[in-house]
Amino acid sequence: MSASTVSSTARTASATTPAFGFWLNGKSRPAHSGASFERKNPFDGSVAATFANGDESDANDAVQAARDAFDTGPWPRSAARTRYQVLMRFAQVLSDNARAIAERMVLESGKPIKVAFGEVQGSIKTIEYYAGATLALEGRAISDRNPEALGLVLREPIGVAALITPWNFPVLNPVIKIAPALAAGCTLVVKPSHLCPGPTLLLAQYLTEAGLPDGVLNVVTSDLDRGALVGQILCSSLLVDKIAFTGSTATGRAVMRAATSNIKHVSLELGGKSANIVFNDAPFDEAAATAISAFCYNSGQQCSAGSRLLVQRGIHDRFIDAVVEQAHLQVLGDPMKDTTSMGPLINEEQHTRVLGYVEIGKREGKLVTGGGAPPGAAFANSLFVEPTIFDAVSNSSKLAQEEVFGPVLAVILFDTEEDAIRLANESRYGLAGGVWSSSINTAIRVAKAVRTGKMFINSYNSAGIDDMPHGGYKESGIGREWGPNGLEEFQQVKTIQIRLPK
Ligand code: NAD
Repeated sequence: MSASTVSSTARTASATTPAFGFWLNGKSRPAHSGASFERKNPFDGSVAATFANGDESDANDAVQAARDAFDTGPWPRSAARTRYQVLMRFAQVLSDNARAIAERMVLESGKPIKVAFGEVQGSIKTIEYYAGATLALEGRAISDRNPEALGLVLREPIGVAALITPWNFPVLNPVIKIAPALAAGCTLVVKPSHLCPGPTLLLAQYLTEAGLPDGVLNVVTSDLDRGALVGQILCSSLLVDKIAFTGSTATGRAVMRAATSNIKHVSLELGGKSANIVFNDAPFDEAAATAISAFCYNSGQQCSAGSRLLVQRGIHDRFIDAVVEQAHLQVLGDPMKDTTSMGPLINEEQHTRVLGYVEIGKREGKLVTGGGAPPGAAFANSLFVEPTIFDAVSNSSKLAQEEVFGPVLAVILFDTEEDAIRLANESRYGLAGGVWSSSINTAIRVAKAVRTGKMFINSYNSAGIDDMPHGGYKESGIGREWGPNGLEEFQQVKTIQIRLPK
């Protein structure tokens, strides 16, 4: 990255800046008030796009469109094969537009283009999975409890679902909700984060192109302040049957409270502070390389980040040296370049927050590497933060207990297997975790004992299996996404008893 790239780009919207409206009833529409807001590129400060700034009346329009489409439209009553075909065409249109949507993600979120492409590929697989799952939808019949009766257990679409999403995976986060919800036959209102709404609006266009009937999926956008307002309207609306939310635990509480209005179903994918546990007998090189991606992937802005590294005493010093060496291999710079592995943080607020945790870390542990922007004038006044590692951190400290959502690692020493399990579990969160050992017995014992929604053995974030259910224990959430569980979140169960007198 050069200093001129950061400072010379225009910082106001121009005639060529894309201007997005909402997506309502199959077409783009401005806000009733005519208001719009800008999203700036976190890499160079240029305006990435403008968006319609929705208020209460726009949110209510989107809800009404989804309600009408559910109550009287064809989608909830369609044959499974129709939904399969639309979802498969959606996967194809997304694939055809992979570059456009990946570049939009880069412009609005600052994530590196290769990370953005990986996200699009993962999203296509997810859509294909749920397209296939549509063809396998079925209920149960109970025929042998009573010879004079037959019981049917049907699975029906849950109704109108409001999907509220964060900015960190701006294609995958909406897709992992949209695909199972459409497979189930629901109709939707989607509210993306104000920090990266463009990709959701592109997904809506692609779905219309793929043949989704108008009104089945509606998108309303809004800025930071109105975002909370619109989110609350969706959560409290009596016309909405289900909220699928991904975001911070603090917002998750507000979502849950508002959803009591009509006792709507709620699923929450929230924050994390996951432990990546490395035993003396771990496969050393892979564990060291993966420890970096576990907390630096997407510049550390990932819910499942392995942001607590628990290292057994016997290898501690050697292992930390190896992790630091790996940290220095990260390439920070222009996120549009294929060679970049870490982009800037999402905005100034998040940057200030992360640097605040760095200061806390300096008091609570020993700074081993990083701590701010890379050296050099090119990174001055930028939103970049280098991989930052603190050693000798106590598990009870703020740095080890709070979600930083940036590339900051807390290293915690342990002696025994029991210590490792206790430390991993001493957290209000329970989203993910990893365990590295050549003893499969140790690894499985630890994986079973850690109270978290997913564990990786001798890997982190993926061992290459798609569609495993994802979700949290404790304050990391309620419900699951991906796999069959993800589809069930958008279904109601109905029983019918049929009397069969002789
Ligand atoms: P956030 O909670 O600030 O915002 C998430 C969404 O909620 C946004 O669309 C926002 O506009 C909306 N919102 C804000 N206030 C609201 C309110 N009062 N009522 C209803 N909606 C409201 O989160 P963020 O900063 O966008 O995302 C980062 C957080 O998301 C992190 O905590 C991260 O761990 C979490 N996350 C979790 C997962 C997971 O799968 N568990 C995945 C990605 C991100």
